[in-house]
Amino acid sequence: METATTNEGWVYLKNSPKWHYIRNRTSLCNKFLYLGTQELEQGNNNSPDNCAVCRKKLEKEKAEVNS
Ligand SMILES: [Zn+2]
Repeated sequence: METATTNEGWVYLKNSPKWHYIRNRTSLCNKFLYLGTQELEQGNNNSPDNCAVCRKKLEKEKAEVNS
C-alpha cells in the first residue's frame, strides 16, 4: 500500500456541482482531471455533496482493505 495521501483527496471543481475524489490527477469516476490548483481534502467521505461514483469506489476500496 502506498501512503501518498497528498496526491489524493476530495476536491470541489467549478465545472461540477459535486466534490470528486482525485487520485493520480483523475477523479475516481474518470470524468474529471485535476490540474493541481486546488487543495485536496481528506475525510468527509460520506458527505452528500460528494460524487456518488467516487464515493462508492472509495468505499469499496476501504472495505477491501479492512476485510
Ligand atoms: Zn466523481
